[in-house]
Amino acid sequence: MDRKLLLIILDGVPWRNWERLFGNLEGWVADGTAQKWKMRSVLPSTSASCYASIHTGVTPQEHGCTGNGNVFRIKQPDVFGQVRKSGGVTGAVAHSFWSEFFNRHPFDYVRDVEYDEPESETINHGRFHSMTGYGMANQMTPSDVDLFATLTNLCLKRGLNYGMLHTCTLDSMGHRFQHDSHEMDHACFVMDEMLAPFIPKWRALGYEVIVTADHGQDARGHHGGRDPLQQEFALYYFGEAQGPEADTVIDQLQLAPTILSRLGAEIPETMRAAPFLG
Ligand SMILES: [Zn+2]
Repeated sequence: MDRKLLLIILDGVPWRNWERLFGNLEGWVADGTAQKWKMRSVLPSTSASCYASIHTGVTPQEHGCTGNGNVFRIKQPDVFGQVRKSGGVTGAVAHSFWSEFFNRHPFDYVRDVEYDEPESETINHGRFHSMTGYGMANQMTPSDVDLFATLTNLCLKRGLNYGMLHTCTLDSMGHRFQHDSHEMDHACFVMDEMLAPFIPKWRALGYEVIVTADHGQDARGHHGGRDPLQQEFALYYFGEAQGPEADTVIDQLQLAPTILSRLGAEIPETMRAAPFLG
């Protein structure tokens, strides 16, 4: 495999927060460097259910993850496995659910916190964190700049073709402070500033880059149901491909086959939605 792509998932950022608070990403849309669309999550618009759909391209009704309390090794083909079948090297810097869904369940804190497995059929290079003890009084999230740096480190040292990064910081901030707050404004502003310097670096290394969320949040910081604030978020794409008209709403199930098509990997029969980049 000679193509490269990074998927950056900022957990729980509703559509309305991106334009208002992510000035670097919006600046790249304004000058034509990036393309932006609205994406709509599956139902339930709950984190674990969305993670599994993002990477398998099938609904929660099909993969069976009904929520954060029901995490298991997913049966359907997923992006990591398809990239491996096509000879690509994969990596992930993410919450431990991603390791459980797509590599091994249950999560073993010592074995699975960091692994390099060149022969793996799914994730070759994993760097995970569990957020055990997470709650309103303690978010238990790593600094996002450390996560972005870790992914960059894997790209440089391990030659990833496909890298996935997922951070829960903004989802946790939304649950804690809700959306009409100085804290939430500041958290999004800081995320945008921390992320921005890495994007030109990743592009210079030959990666296409997608920045998006798993779901939104409503004014009270809630998500899980059928509601535009809970389901809709932005997707920014940095790369050479062209997408649909700017006002098109993309289905979350289109993301997995789109990533595979950009990498030149085989799209399995289970991923029935159409790629949106071509
Ligand atoms: Zn989430």
